This record gives sequence, C-alpha cells and structure tokens, in this order.
Amino acid sequence: MNIHEYQAREIFQAHGLPVPDSEVVDTPEGAADAARSLGGRVVIKAQVHAGGRGKAGGVKLAADPEEARDAAGLILGMEIKGLTVRKVLVAPTADIATEAYVGIVMDRVSQRPVMMVSPEGGVDIEEVAETNPEAIFKETIDPRYGLLNHQATRLAYRLFSDPSLARPAAGVLLGLWRAYRSADATLAEVNPLISTSSGEVLAIDAKMNIDDSALFRHPALEAMRDEDAEAPSERRAREAGLSYIKLEGSVGCCVNGAGLAMATMDLVKYYGGDPANFLDIGGSSNPEKVVCALEIMAGDPNVLSILFNIFGGITRCDDVANGIVEATSRLELRVPLTIRLTGTNEDEAVGILGVAGFEADTDMDRAVQRAVRAAGVQ
Ligand code: GDP
Ligand code: MN
Repeated sequence: MNIHEYQAREIFQAHGLPVPDSEVVDTPEGAADAARSLGGRVVIKAQVHAGGRGKAGGVKLAADPEEARDAAGLILGMEIKGLTVRKVLVAPTADIATEAYVGIVMDRVSQRPVMMVSPEGGVDIEEVAETNPEAIFKETIDPRYGLLNHQATRLAYRLFSDPSLARPAAGVLLGLWRAYRSADATLAEVNPLISTSSGEVLAIDAKMNIDDSALFRHPALEAMRDEDAEAPSERRAREAGLSYIKLEGSVGCCVNGAGLAMATMDLVKYYGGDPANFLDIGGSSNPEKVVCALEIMAGDPNVLSILFNIFGGITRCDDVANGIVEATSRLELRVPLTIRLTGTNEDEAVGILGVAGFEADTDMDRAVQRAVRAAGVQ
C-alpha cells in the first residue's frame, strides 16, 4: 500500500528524522493560511501517489501567502500520472545547498532490505542508476541485527565528507531503518535529503510503501489508506478478495492460484501475447468473485480478449462455470472469451457452459493460443 508524502513525513518524524513542520490543506485559501502560520516563504506540493511531481509542475515555491494561494490554486485539481490532486502540503521553503538520495528497498536477490544512498539526489534514482551507477552506494541489511552503526556511518560519509553533516546524516539513515522496520515497509525513501547553507541536514520529501500482507497488524497504517488515490479496479478487487495487478497488455487472464497465474502469463507471452493483468481468484469457488473478476477485466479498455484458466482442486469447475454464466448474463462482453478448465467437476462445468453457449477447452496450450489470437496479436 502506498501512502502520501505527508503521512510518510509523520512516520519519519516520529522516528527522529529532521523533517520540517508542514500542513496539509485542500483549498487555496487554506494554503494561504498555512503559509502565514509557517512564516511566509513556503513550498506547495501535490499529494498524489506518484513520483516526479516536481517535473510535472506539482511542486511550486511561493514567496508569501498570496503566492501560496495562487500556487495551490494551480496545483489542486491538476492531474499527475492520471491521478487528480486533492490535497497539497505546505512547508517552509528550505534553502538547499546539496540534494542527496537515501532509501531502503526490499531486495529480492539478496532477500534482504538494502539501503541505497547517492550524493546525486533530487532527480530520479533510476536515472542515476542508468547513467552513473558508481554514484550509488549500498549496504545490505541483515534483518537479525538491523542497520548497524558502522554501515550507517560508512554510507553517510559517501554523502558528506564534512563530519558535521555526515554525523546527522548517519542518524537519518538509522531512523529511516527504524521507520522501515517498524512499519513493515517495502520501501522507505527520502529524496532529497538536503544540506542547507546554514549547515543543517533536512529530509524534505518522504515516500513509503507498506507491505499489504503485514497491514493486518498495523491498524493505524491501514487507516492511512486513501481510496481516492487507488485505481478503482484495484479497490474493487481488494474488496472482493481478489489478488489483482493491472498490467499493460491486451489479454485479460483470470486464474485460480498465484502459481498458475504466473504460468499462464508466461504462456501468453510465449505465444506472442501480452497479459493485461495478474488476477488470482484464489482457492474458493464463490461465483461472486468470478463475476467481479470479469467485470474488472471487461472494464479495462486495453483488454481485447479474456482468458479463464482454472485448475479445479478445492475450486470447483462447476462453480466457476456458474460464475461465468452469471457474469455474462449481467454484463455485455465486448471482447471474446476463452475458457479452459480441468479438474474437479470438469464435466459438469462443460455442461453448464455448453447450455449457455460457451465452449470450454481442457488443454492449456490450445486455450492460451486461442486467447492470444483473439486479441489480434498474432
Ligand atoms: P518529487 O519530484 O515528487 O520527488 O518532489 P520533491 O519533494 O522531491 O520536490 C522536487 C524538487 O523540488 C526537489 O528535488 C527540490 O529541488 C525542489 N524543492 C522541493 N522543496 C523545496 C524547497 O523547500 N526549497 C527549494 N529551493 N526547492 C525545493
Ligand atoms: Mn522527491
């Protein structure tokens, strides 16, 4: 789960990071008031779940409350990467001398959190990784011991040679690790971590992703969920108990079980297609889930073909078949549907689908090829 900058700032502040005070408002007038109480010169920042707000015009400096009102007026309602800005953060303008990047991500290769820092902050870290990889420094964190003092110190000196800056920077790195760890985050990032001309180190941006699978033990974090900031299809899927991730391709895939879903996506690729989503209806046979899955895929304008691939075990093929019949009677499908099912109650399922005018295949290769062809890819 993604949270907003202002929420990540609160968490970072609670773990001792030097985050300047700020206010969150949803009107231009509110921004003017906030600027007044923060001392006049402020930065106005769009609160959306997207990076690169600066480049998109979602971060503006204002010299006084009137300018803050105007800047907020321009940013509120703006679209950034398809997301509408409904709130802005107002913070006192920082006097930037240098901008560094610091972040922790879960690294799949080492299966551990990795802390990364770069003195070339402010810009996209992906860009630095591509054009100037030797400017990124890393320490792998052993989860048994956490980020060790010497690791934090080593990284901090990669950012600042002056001990009066490196020492507080090491404190920032240790605090960032504590925030990451205690929130069960998958990402925690400050970009930029700045030094000011008066010699302070400040965290002036904050980003955090929380592991969805750990949210059950963090009700306070779960309460930070902003449903407005989620894609409507992802929200529907979550509420229906489906695992759904939207992708860019044209073949909608509805599968039971994450392993089969991955194998199906691989096979779609193998036969020249591109999956439009990962969608796992799980091990239950609830026809409502099938209805919801079909509606979500049918609602994606990129989807040109839909494939059901069901391996009946605990999930009964006849229940899925009933779900498909129910869903297609409720909504007009504008794209071809290919169905493959095998396993528990397969014969009943073929019968149910046949009565409703659908053909079901039991062969996975054949079904995937047909679905890819139906999307017009080959
Ligand atoms: P992002 O583009 O979404 O990552 O938003 P950031 O909060 O990182 O802001 C983008 C850029 O705006 C930063 O890298 C800074 O260069 C600039 N910026 C943000 N806040 C301030 C500020 O208080 N003072 C100054 N001078 N620049 C700022
Ligand atoms: Mn940033």
